[in-house]
This record gives sequence, C-alpha cells and structure tokens, in this order.
Amino acid sequence: MSKFLTNDELQGVISDLKETYRVMSPMYERMGGRFAHTDNLIYDEIESFSDIVWKEKSHFSPKEVVFPITETLFWLDGNELRESKVDPRPVVLFLRACDINALKSLDHMFLKNGGNEDFYYKRLREKLKLVLIECESSFENCFCVSMNANTTTNFAASIRFSSGGGADVVTQDEAFAKYLAEVGIESNHKTGFVQENHVKVRTPDQICGDPIKVREILTGNPVWNEYDSRCIGCGRCTTSCPTCSCYSVFDVVYNQEAKVGERRRQHASCMTGNFTDMAGGHQFRQKTGERLRYRALHKVNDFKARQGEHHMCVGCGRCDDRCPHYISFSNIINKMSDQIELTLKNEAENVPV
Ligand code: SF4
Ligand code: SF4
Repeated sequence: MSKFLTNDELQGVISDLKETYRVMSPMYERMGGRFAHTDNLIYDEIESFSDIVWKEKSHFSPKEVVFPITETLFWLDGNELRESKVDPRPVVLFLRACDINALKSLDHMFLKNGGNEDFYYKRLREKLKLVLIECESSFENCFCVSMNANTTTNFAASIRFSSGGGADVVTQDEAFAKYLAEVGIESNHKTGFVQENHVKVRTPDQICGDPIKVREILTGNPVWNEYDSRCIGCGRCTTSCPTCSCYSVFDVVYNQEAKVGERRRQHASCMTGNFTDMAGGHQFRQKTGERLRYRALHKVNDFKARQGEHHMCVGCGRCDDRCPHYISFSNIINKMSDQIELTLKNEAENVPV
C-alpha cells in the first residue's frame, strides 16, 4: 500500500497510533544544545506529528531507545531484589536507513556476542516497530553509501516527507495498513534511498583481505600520532554513535545501614581516560591517538572480522558532526587504507621501512 497523506491526516494517524504505541522519533530538546541557546536533536516520545524533525540529522542516535544512557537494572531493599520495569507499550520508532542498519550491530553485541542475550536490551528491542524515514538527500559528513548502510528492507513502513507538506507512506504491514485505510490518496511512490554521498571512504578490507595483517600494519603506525594532541578524549564521538555499545555498571547506595539502593548501567566510552583503568592504576591506552586507533579498528576491521557480515560503522557521520576538534572519522578511515596500501606496496617492492 502506498498513500499520500496531508499533515492533518498524518496528525490523525499519529494520534491513533498513540492509543496503542509509544511513538518515538527525532525531536527537539529545547535549549539542550551544546552551545548556549541552541536546541538538541534527540530521540524521544512525541506528542504530535509536528514534533517529528525530519529535515535535519539527529545529534544523538535512536540507540537510546533500546540502550538508554543511564538505566536502572534492579533495586535493592534489605534482602529483597526487585527488577526494574519498563513502559509496557510497544514502540513505533521513526529512524533512517543507517540507524536501522546500526541496530544490526547492537543486536549482535547484545543478543549474540559471547552466546548470551542481554535481558535489558532484549525487553526494549522486542517492542520496536520500525518506520523508515527516507532521506531526501545526503546530509553533511554522511558516508553511508561507502559503508553499504544506505539501504535496508528491515522496516514495517516507510515515510517520505514532502517539503511542501504531507508525506508518502508505504507499508505492507497489516498492523500499519489499518491506520491508513480511511485516509490519504493512493500514490505510486516507491521507498527510495540515498545513492550517493559527498563523502566517500575506502575501508581497510577493500585494500587487504586479512584483518590480522590490517591490525599489524596499523598498530604502532605513526598515522595516529597527530591525534595525541588533537583529540581531547571527551567521548562525544562515541556518545552520539548509533553502534557504540560499551557500558559501566555501578551501584547507587541510598542507605548503607538498611542496604537500600539500585544497580545501574551507564554508557561508557573507549575514548575517555578511565575506560581501561585496572587495579594498581594501569591503563592500556593512555594516549588519545591510541584510543582513536582502538576505536577505528573496532569500527572498520575487528568487529567485521569476528562477526563476519558487516562493519560496525554505518557512516552516519555523527562523530564528525559532534567532535569539538573537527576530527573526521571518514578521513581517518581513508588514512588507514592509504597506510595499508603504502605498506603492502613497500613490502612487494622490498622497500625497507
Ligand atoms: S563511527 Fe561515526 S560514522 Fe560510524 S556509525 Fe559511529 S558515529 Fe556514525
Ligand atoms: S575524536 Fe573528537 S569527539 Fe572523539 S574523543 Fe576525540 S576530541 Fe572528543
């Protein structure tokens, strides 16, 4: 089914959906931006159709719907342990193709990695019904096409907003189709995807098929040295990344005598200083260039080498958008590939390094 709906009709559909679902999409957090008097663009539950922000790329990703920044796992009260609760309603989630592909990596990390399923992720993930927001064109810093993350079939419906108002909605999903039965006019619209980005990358596996060799070449490579001073280890890049899945677990004690408190988990970042802290004060990666190397190799080499199907990075470009020191991850990927190419060429020609 493909239909064109006016803004008023879309508002009616959203209202009807909200009787059953939590409807979540990119929306403004007013005055929550990183500079004074600017808005933040986050994922949250919307009240009306007009809350959906589709003309801009969101600053934060939809991963927070299934992996909140801070999450209570359970409560402790004396000798009693109570599991935390989540909103029981299913969720309709509006998101873009790259972010749908990012969910594949989160699913792997939380549901398959190590052979264990993460209970807390699973209970939120199972609630999702995905609505693809079609991208009118590529945003600044996007390189989803190079990462094969610009297309997807994993959605219950797609929506293409029109700058003149209204939107084309396409669905084969029975649960959604009933919301469209009485509204809109039939259209010939087919779900479309961005086919080209201004930014393009070559991933290391396009140069060398051996991920161990890639790691050997890039570990200790001088290409990372400039980031020891440029990168300040703030972790903004990982917070906004739709595929970063690391977290820390800690206990909050309300009353030590009565043993009352809660256990929480909270996003952690491999770019910040304490990520690899060990007993005795040892840190594995003290320099920020080393942390960047670790993160970059994980995103475009190591994850795929273990998981076998796709890279962790989907090319959303949010890390580039957010970095306060204008460090570009797409540039880093291309530099990595250039270094591998150069090393392999030198090895073939027996040039001493
Ligand atoms: S590494 Fe950067 S470009 Fe890649 S998915 Fe994460 S935020 Fe997006
Ligand atoms: S790359 Fe940029 S955003 Fe990431 S930790 Fe370094 S300075 Fe912060």
